[in-house]
Amino acid sequence: MPDTSPQLIDPAAPSEQIESLLTAVAAKPDASEGMRTMMQRASEFPNRLAAQLTGIALDPYGRQVADQFLDAYWSDEPRQQAALRATGTDREVIIGSGFHAAVYAAVRVRSGFGKPLVLERNDRVGGVFAMTARPAFYLNSRNRAGNAGLAGDQGASLNYLPGAPIQAANVSMAEYQTNTDMAFVIRLALAQFADVVTNADVQAVARDGAAVEVLLAGRGAITAGRVIDARGLGDPNDQDLANGTTILTFPQFMQRMAGMWPLRGVRRVAVIGGGDSAKCAVEAVLGIGPQPYMAAAALDSVDRVDWYAELPATCEGWQDDIRGRYQAIGRYLRPDRLGGRRLTVLQRRARPVALPGLGLVDGRTYDLVVVCTGNREADIDGLDLASFYEYTIAGSTLVVAREHYDLPAFRVGPHARLPFTAREREDGIADIPANAVSMFRTASKTAALAATLPAVTQD
Ligand SMILES: Cc1cc2nc3c(=O)[nH]c(=O)nc-3n(C[C@H](O)[C@H](O)[C@H](O)COP(=O)(O)OP(=O)(O)OC[C@H]3O[C@@H](n4cnc5c(N)ncnc54)[C@H](O)[C@@H]3O)c2cc1C
Repeated sequence: MPDTSPQLIDPAAPSEQIESLLTAVAAKPDASEGMRTMMQRASEFPNRLAAQLTGIALDPYGRQVADQFLDAYWSDEPRQQAALRATGTDREVIIGSGFHAAVYAAVRVRSGFGKPLVLERNDRVGGVFAMTARPAFYLNSRNRAGNAGLAGDQGASLNYLPGAPIQAANVSMAEYQTNTDMAFVIRLALAQFADVVTNADVQAVARDGAAVEVLLAGRGAITAGRVIDARGLGDPNDQDLANGTTILTFPQFMQRMAGMWPLRGVRRVAVIGGGDSAKCAVEAVLGIGPQPYMAAAALDSVDRVDWYAELPATCEGWQDDIRGRYQAIGRYLRPDRLGGRRLTVLQRRARPVALPGLGLVDGRTYDLVVVCTGNREADIDGLDLASFYEYTIAGSTLVVAREHYDLPAFRVGPHARLPFTAREREDGIADIPANAVSMFRTASKTAALAATLPAVTQD
């Protein structure tokens, strides 16, 4: 009988991948300045590794070198093959490499279990926050030091990744951090606590005796003892309307914003949709998002933004109805002294049509149309939502995930579509619909699942 009892590890001991990352950064004197400098304050950190990684994160060149190292490591084909071959009935497989994959892996390993294998369909690890390698949008959850907790608790960190080597609060002190700040924390956690294979698109999952067979597009099937389905919010709803040039989905637009002079020749823009993604897109074209690469107001200034959304159309209405994070947008709704204004909210639904070199919306032409109309689940055979029920950990009524009726498989994070708890309703958290998918709401639930599930061979 193999020993499946949890084996506690030292979380401050770098994994092989993190050790190689530290070596790669140390080998470049310009890139290791932050790491070396931060060691002067090493005693203020929980351990040496946290000081080293914080130093790297706070040094732009150090972070760039580390990010490039991680990408190269994860894309190495022989390493990927070895990781896929190492699967078996005693291994957990996580679908997706976002925030929730990192939470599960970190808490699982720190609870004494083996490293999960993370399968990511993209070539970049880190999920939604890693959709760009350069900063492209700001988070909507405030950057605060502290431990996990709910919104409204000034002492809690909303972007807290349980078990991670360093937290988002370690990597910058901006009130709202960039997507790449969060992505860096997620990527370090995965480098420390998981094996990751990129370009591994899970297509189907089926029972194989007591275990599961996981079928990957173009890479055959592997065996797992348990599947953690952390697919996130899915693909853009209206991606079929986008043409990749004049009509873009939110991820396509953000990838453009992270490239060189992204708004060159763009004078008139339409944004469709009123959620947080659309607000980030509007911030980007107005010049109040993160600074794009090689873009300057003298060269690249959008004159007119038409926003098709059910949102307040006046500055006053904006102040009354929209939460603090997005208040800066409201002042662009007020006409200037000459009566002109750059931003107009058109409170109606719209559908874009691609014309040669232009996008057409509601009879008006635009240089660029950004479609931000939400997401839909990306299908995997055998893991449809109807096959899962709400899962509570033993002795508790708190729903932390969804468990499959027939397979050793769990849905976690926003992908689990967990109902608001009574506590979250009482605290007003349910009043903001976007909170349904926020990290502070789901992180502790995924962490609780990871800390309490038995070893896979005991299922
Ligand atoms: C644009 C945007 C901004 C957000 N900002 C905030 C914020 O500021 N604060 C906050 O609290 N929350 C925010 N959220 C919510 C955020 O998505 C969640 O809180 C959380 O990060 C989701 O993490 P995840 O790991 O569940 O999913 P994701 O980060 O979406 O990761 C899922 C991963 O699964 C992969 N995947 C999907 N299907 C497959 C497959 N078949 N095979 C292999 N891999 C697959 C995807 O490629 C992706 O990398 C934001 C969401 C979006 C879309």
